[in-house]
Amino acid sequence: MANAFWCVVEDDRAGRPKKVNAEALGEAARLAAQTGGQVEAVWLTDRAEADGLGQLAEWGAEKVWLVEAPALAPYRGEVWTPVLAELAGTEQPKAIFGAVTSRLRELMARLAARLGVGLSADSVAFDFRDGGLIATRPVYAGKLLSKVTWAAGPWLATLRPNVFKPRDPRTGKAPVVERPPVTVPQPTMTFVERREEVSTGLPELTEAEIVVSGGRGLKGPENFVVLEELAKVIGAAVGASRAAVDAGWRPHRFQIGQTGRTISPKLYMGFGISGAIQHLAGMRTSKVIVAVNKDPEAPIFKIADYGIVGDLFEVAPLLTREFKRLLEK
Ligand SMILES: Cc1cc2nc3c(=O)[nH]c(=O)nc-3n(C[C@H](O)[C@H](O)[C@H](O)COP(=O)(O)OP(=O)(O)OC[C@H]3O[C@@H](n4cnc5c(N)ncnc54)[C@H](O)[C@@H]3O)c2cc1C
Repeated sequence: MANAFWCVVEDDRAGRPKKVNAEALGEAARLAAQTGGQVEAVWLTDRAEADGLGQLAEWGAEKVWLVEAPALAPYRGEVWTPVLAELAGTEQPKAIFGAVTSRLRELMARLAARLGVGLSADSVAFDFRDGGLIATRPVYAGKLLSKVTWAAGPWLATLRPNVFKPRDPRTGKAPVVERPPVTVPQPTMTFVERREEVSTGLPELTEAEIVVSGGRGLKGPENFVVLEELAKVIGAAVGASRAAVDAGWRPHRFQIGQTGRTISPKLYMGFGISGAIQHLAGMRTSKVIVAVNKDPEAPIFKIADYGIVGDLFEVAPLLTREFKRLLEK
């Protein structure tokens, strides 16, 4: 449908869409309502579970374009891009959105280049002006917000997680699934090995509503347990500064900042993190920021809503104990 707002699905690699899709679909629904358009999901996968399809319908997808083929797993940009470009060429959607995730960030950039259109990366707001879409996105490591628009359609954008509101669930809605006849190329890269990280049992960093993050002030990898204990009690994900990652205390996928993940949780708590601009670039849009640092002059206090000047090795266990009591755990 030429007036459609598409959302490219980010899935859990086991047949189900991730929660970030609800936000992209919610925002697409809000925009589509203003243009009389329709919200559609595009899912490229090696397998889609029926309840995963149902979930997309519940989150607002009126139709799911499903391309299911073994060559689509694991993700390879050179396989996914032509499939999506071909489908976009045939169906001519008005907009194509995707959440800011490792693979969609890459895929959407490739797609923009393939279609010869602009991409608003890491968008935090959308509005219409004179019938055109205006996207707001952070620039200069989040110090400024810029408004951009597209010289030509479709409007491609990635959406920062935890910023956009999902719509009210459309419970019991059956998905309309269409399997388009597109060509899925054979991968040119051979898949050698997949190493699965052992799950921490904590929420995924970019999806978590609460993030507890540690920096060089933790002094060593063994001390992250102090933050993990707190995180378990309040249902938080644990992130890290680049200093902690570069020291080998946490894997890179936990790094928050300009060269790591961008997060926007309801609550961010930084322990032993100075607040360098490159770190702030990845977390400054968090709704409430709490900083714990023994240096009262630490720059992070400038953007913190609540600051605790103190030793994290005393403060973190105190907070854990108090939250446990309050939450009766
Ligand atoms: C191109 C580029 C990209 C970068 N990308 C990123 C990025 O993506 N993410 C990122 O984080 N950084 C990034 N950096 C690095 C960034 O500039 C900082 O060096 C880094 O963020 C510092 O990490 P930190 O705050 O943990 O360490 P530090 O700056 O060393 O701060 C440690 C803090 O811990 C406090 N502290 C020490 N002991 C305690 C204690 N017991 N209790 C409480 N507080 C204590 C200290 O007072 C200090 O403020 C980048 C840098 C460059 C040049």
